[in-house]
Amino acid sequence: MADLVVAGAGMAGLVAAAEARRLGAEPLVLEKLGRPGGSMRLSSGVIWRHRDFGTFRGDCPDAEEGLQRLLFERLDEDLGWLESFGAPVVERDTGNPLTTGTRFEPAGLTDALVEAAGDVHLAERLRETPAGVPLVLATGGFAADRELLEEHVSPEAGHAFLRAAPGSTGDGLRIGLAAGAGTSAGLEQVYARAMPGPPARIAEDDLVRLSQLYARHAQVTNERGELFETTAWSEIDVAQWQLRQPRARAWFSVPLESLGERVRDRTVAEMIDAAETAGAPVRRDEEHVTVETVGGVTTTLGGLAIDEHARAAQGVFACGADAGGVATGGYASGLAAALVFGRIAARAALGETP
Ligand SMILES: Cc1cc2nc3c(=O)[nH]c(=O)nc-3n(C[C@H](O)[C@H](O)[C@H](O)COP(=O)(O)OP(=O)(O)OC[C@H]3O[C@@H](n4cnc5c(N)ncnc54)[C@H](O)[C@@H]3O)c2cc1C
Repeated sequence: MADLVVAGAGMAGLVAAAEARRLGAEPLVLEKLGRPGGSMRLSSGVIWRHRDFGTFRGDCPDAEEGLQRLLFERLDEDLGWLESFGAPVVERDTGNPLTTGTRFEPAGLTDALVEAAGDVHLAERLRETPAGVPLVLATGGFAADRELLEEHVSPEAGHAFLRAAPGSTGDGLRIGLAAGAGTSAGLEQVYARAMPGPPARIAEDDLVRLSQLYARHAQVTNERGELFETTAWSEIDVAQWQLRQPRARAWFSVPLESLGERVRDRTVAEMIDAAETAGAPVRRDEEHVTVETVGGVTTTLGGLAIDEHARAAQGVFACGADAGGVATGGYASGLAAALVFGRIAARAALGETP
């Protein structure tokens, strides 16, 4: 019999299982999909924290301060722990002066963690709390469940594009609530990116390449012509707004002179060309290029309420996107939260000092 059951073989679940195994325990990992890695496998692989705790609080003002402190104080050591499994590093820089962290290659990171986690059962879904053994919920939140998005985020969020792995349909939330857990603040909050609007075709491997991350250089309007102006460096504010607009649509209209502006490693023109090639409606006139976009839900930010030992209910622990309270009111690295709280959950579930 396993010492610990872990639901989900994405970032948080594999980290929890790897930590459990390091402590000499025998974890059993169930993964609903036929492949491991969840949304981590599709991500950019940048695991980061704010450089300064005050900026973290300022960016995510409604989060639980104790959880934020744990993330802030433990991430650097946890990144070293991750590297000790042979997870391949691409860059020791986030490209953002406000943050610090490491960029990993997501497929290699998944492989390294699967090997460290050991017993991973694919295409097996956890449906209820197992009897007599601690449970770590790491099912990735509810970005892939239209009804839960409509209920908790907005009726328009049901029109969103799923910019994430399809397995995260709220199982952790349902199982945790049934076990007596409560919900965190911010259940209505999501992290999203504008994506090329229909009829664009977007493959799973293109979720990063096709994101339209240039609201700061554009005039952004909804289908009624109402304007939205972004003020957040992460553009999380546009994302939250877009999911509440009719059909989760927004039009990004860029003046020709801004097409050469760079956002991270791409120009605005390159992002628009990629959207057009994928099939999104793009209009060009003498002064502007206008792209129709749809909100692409990447991860939910609210979830089960946890304490500083990642405990959600008696014998039930939650981490990654299943746990809320880390980024409430803004945006922080989901991979970082999954790493830090995945380790904490495993230690607490096994009765070790967190
Ligand atoms: C395109 C893209 C880019 C991103 N870029 C970044 C980035 O650069 N930096 C960053 O910090 N974050 C990024 N993210 C977000 C990051 O991937 C997530 O925050 C992170 O993966 C969350 O970890 P998790 O373990 O909670 O969920 P996941 O990694 O998604 O894993 C959850 C797993 O649980 C499985 N599951 C669901 N229900 C069950 C069940 N009942 N039983 C068994 N298994 C189940 C799912 O199938 C899935 O495999 C990105 C995401 C995407 C999609």
